[in-house]
Amino acid sequence: MKKGLFKEGGPLEVKNLGNDQYHLTITIPKDRDGRIARECPNSECSPAYFKVTPGTGITGGQDSAFCPYCRHEAEPNDFTTQEQIRYAKDMAIREAHGGVNEMVKDALGLDSRGKRKFGGGLLSIEMDLKPSQPKPVRRPFEDEVRRDVVCPHCTLDQTVFGLAAWCSDCGEDIFLTHVSAEIAVIRRMLNDIGRREQDLGRRVSAKDLENCLEDSVSLFEAASKAVTRRALKQRGDDSEAVEVNLKKVGNSFQNVDRSREQLKKLFGYEPTNRAIWDRLGSSFEKRHPVTHNLGVVDKKYLERAQQAEREGREVRITEAEIESLLKDIFQVISELHSEIIGNVR
Ligand SMILES: [Zn+2]
Ligand SMILES: [Zn+2]
Repeated sequence: MKKGLFKEGGPLEVKNLGNDQYHLTITIPKDRDGRIARECPNSECSPAYFKVTPGTGITGGQDSAFCPYCRHEAEPNDFTTQEQIRYAKDMAIREAHGGVNEMVKDALGLDSRGKRKFGGGLLSIEMDLKPSQPKPVRRPFEDEVRRDVVCPHCTLDQTVFGLAAWCSDCGEDIFLTHVSAEIAVIRRMLNDIGRREQDLGRRVSAKDLENCLEDSVSLFEAASKAVTRRALKQRGDDSEAVEVNLKKVGNSFQNVDRSREQLKKLFGYEPTNRAIWDRLGSSFEKRHPVTHNLGVVDKKYLERAQQAEREGREVRITEAEIESLLKDIFQVISELHSEIIGNVR
């Protein structure tokens, strides 16, 4: 009987469907938290990669899933990652390995030791098949830079690698849920500063405070950029125009005045609550240039600090100020989200 490529059964539950067609069941490994990686099939999507926790969110029959970044809608199977496809292929090749060796032996008429002797007398040729060892299978590569968000609508516990806009199961807008999860992380660091000052000293706690301020500004920048990108797409800019506009925005969202200029220019947006933007501005200005200048205090900062001292203003940021800055950031981003995006998908 002709030997097949795969033996039926085994760990991959191989089924022979006839005509050299086989069905193999390959289970994609979960990460150590029980999450499974997914990848958006839309080639223009970035970062496209995310994870979901099976058993949370929509359980039972699910016809379509969504990309958290671009809301591409497709069958759940279409979100298989390149790494998972590679893994599945490697597993199949490994399983086929034994079958291929048997087929080669059969085709060449080798004996059970994989040998055959041709001719005899003066000239003889001996063939010898040495089966190679199957390649070890690598597990899918998983990035450690992750953010976990639980959807308030369907409870899906998902991991994203950028700011998520949509829930991957129900497709609802979860952008503000994600922003508040990021704020909660900064708040946890902030609330730990007192303990770290006791354990590690004032130099460390002062740096912690500066880092919390930096992180707050970065969050504001990332969230404003994400809202801007979405609003540009929504008003019908093609992807090239979106990129051109975002390039012009550059790092403007690190500065409150420049943020307002850009939002006005792009969307005609003028904040109704000016006091909150002014507060953001004065906190943003307290970023300590030492942190990002390898310890060299820049002259401008010193001048500004001396000026503030003469006027009796505090130049250094306090924990309470960052606490209210985080509240202000959430409010400003929420307003921006409802004003320039609205409730459109
Ligand atoms: Zn996508
Ligand atoms: Zn959901």
